[in-house]
Amino acid sequence: MTAEASADSAPAAEGDAPAKSSRRRRRGGRGSGNGAANANAPAQPTAEQPASASEAHLGRESRRRRPRRENEATDRLEVPRPLHQRSRGKSGSPDHVLRSVSNDQVGPALGPIGNDRLRVIPLGGVGEVGKNMTAVECGKDLLLLDCGSKFPEEDQRGIDLIVPDVSFIAERMKNFRGILITHGHEDHIGGLPYIIPQLKSRNPIPIYGTPLALGFIERKMLEARLEKQVELIPVNAGESVKLGEMTAEFIHVTHSIPDACAIAVHTPVGTILDTGDFKFDPSPVMGDKTDEARLKRLGDRGVLALFSDTVRVETEGSTPSEKVVMDTMADVIAKAKGQVVIATFASNVSRIHMALEAAAKAGRKVAVAGRSMEQNARVSIDLGYLEPADGLLMPLDDLLKLPKEKRVIVSTGSQGEPSAALARIAAGEHPKIRVSRGDVILVSATPIPGNEDTISQTIDNLYRRGCEVVYSAVNRGVHVSGHSGRDELQHMIQLVRPKFAVPIHGEYRHMALYRELCEKNGIRRDHVALPEIGGVIEFTKDSVNQRGRIRAGNVLVDRLGDRDDGQVVLRTRENLTAEGFVLVTIVVDRATGQLIAGPELIGKGLKPELNASALREAERELRRVLERRRKGEPQYGYVAQRAKETVGKALRRRSRTRPLILPVITEL
Ligand SMILES: [Zn+2]
Ligand SMILES: [Zn+2]
Repeated sequence: MTAEASADSAPAAEGDAPAKSSRRRRRGGRGSGNGAANANAPAQPTAEQPASASEAHLGRESRRRRPRRENEATDRLEVPRPLHQRSRGKSGSPDHVLRSVSNDQVGPALGPIGNDRLRVIPLGGVGEVGKNMTAVECGKDLLLLDCGSKFPEEDQRGIDLIVPDVSFIAERMKNFRGILITHGHEDHIGGLPYIIPQLKSRNPIPIYGTPLALGFIERKMLEARLEKQVELIPVNAGESVKLGEMTAEFIHVTHSIPDACAIAVHTPVGTILDTGDFKFDPSPVMGDKTDEARLKRLGDRGVLALFSDTVRVETEGSTPSEKVVMDTMADVIAKAKGQVVIATFASNVSRIHMALEAAAKAGRKVAVAGRSMEQNARVSIDLGYLEPADGLLMPLDDLLKLPKEKRVIVSTGSQGEPSAALARIAAGEHPKIRVSRGDVILVSATPIPGNEDTISQTIDNLYRRGCEVVYSAVNRGVHVSGHSGRDELQHMIQLVRPKFAVPIHGEYRHMALYRELCEKNGIRRDHVALPEIGGVIEFTKDSVNQRGRIRAGNVLVDRLGDRDDGQVVLRTRENLTAEGFVLVTIVVDRATGQLIAGPELIGKGLKPELNASALREAERELRRVLERRRKGEPQYGYVAQRAKETVGKALRRRSRTRPLILPVITEL
């Protein structure tokens, strides 16, 4: 299981518009009217709710214990739940467990820290899979490890993406030394387009990473017109960078993307190691093996704390090599009669590499489909990570002129994301690609928890079209995880031999199981800190303490469509429904996808322009869109997405405001 999401949801922009005017649009979000919901506007202060983390938690006034209520404001943002419940209840989720624990142990407010202590605060990626981000602070130096995003769960339909709340960092920019990136997956870099503007730095923010990760980041920054607000500084594995009194060292690890690194941060208090996402792949398809020698030397010198990826701790043994996927892909392509579509994560450069090799062997040509996949392929070729033979990789339009048995298409959408290529192909709504009997679809990913339903529906739709589908449940070789099994996690502990350990990159159960693994390897239970989002972990040379929490949590990204520049709204709990919300109710026939009732729009707290007639007009527009769909392919996620976009755009045209759109789809 990996958490790296397709980048199809990257913020879109028109590439040829002048940077200046567009940045103005983004910064002020002026196009979208009222301040509270603007892309970069801070949360609106209210009488009960202080505007900033410093007021809430850092001021002298707030040194006494804070009442419970204010801490709850930092919790997961609860979007009103749709009546139509498709996913499992969330009340028992580890996330909730973590938070309720934290509310009971609010510590003293955070002041400055001397350089005899080291403060580490996960801002995301713990008790959840996705949006990895960890703050590290020592003396007058503050830095961030990774800057990820996370896809919303099925019942968060009004939302496109979730990124961490970085108020804590924004309040301390004076000491901020930069962002260190372990690798180029979305759950480690996907937050950048939304986080960088929030940091409101006058100087460009340094971002350090390996060239491939920076290549992906550069593309994102150009799209979001943020390129002047960052300074991208390449660091190769084996190299170090000095950040105030801290030094960060990049150490090569194997993963499902080339150029992945663990990062050791050497501080006056001691060395901490963030493993990044890793496995000990004995036969990596691209790049070297994990640098075990360096990890062991670090261990010999003494490591204060190990922050380890834990997401596959439940799985015994070691994760199979990427070579297994290579062999499966070659086999499927060799046997296929029609065209082959390989769906994978847009950032999974290794899989594109494999597809190229396998296609070449079978005498086929390759094209990539999906905007983010095209862009990542281009970046990888420019930087020399992919070196396709002449003519092997073609533009999609050219490939589609070849006979079917000569085609391999690598597409986005391996999680069934409604706006990505695979779901559109499956629904017969892709503008170019048609599939039918004889074609083989290989889904080279496993569903991220929460995406099981959408990917299952996509696979069903592909079977309806007569395709053969090869996916992880029927052929285990189509995908291997990029993450360590239990034996590999243990091997890392044994190499590094840390004094303390902090499990990260996992749900609560993964972190708890990892603690057991630590105990088996001689790390005392009270030397393992189970982190929570916003929970402050403080180290001295020989102690670890958890000291309450700071403001942290979710910021919800709400976009209108893929290419609508300036349409991004960041929603926090405070401004979630600042411009009101609209419930869109649709009832469709489960078997045929035909509209049975609705769409019906119910608005609350809307601007006066959005009167009943405006809502009726949006309703009519949505009905037209839904009726245009080809019959017979119900797809919940896709309908929800279209409903949100169509209604959102219609209402925005009328009022220049962006109410929260909540699609409620019932299938009968
Ligand atoms: Zn990864
Ligand atoms: Zn990851």
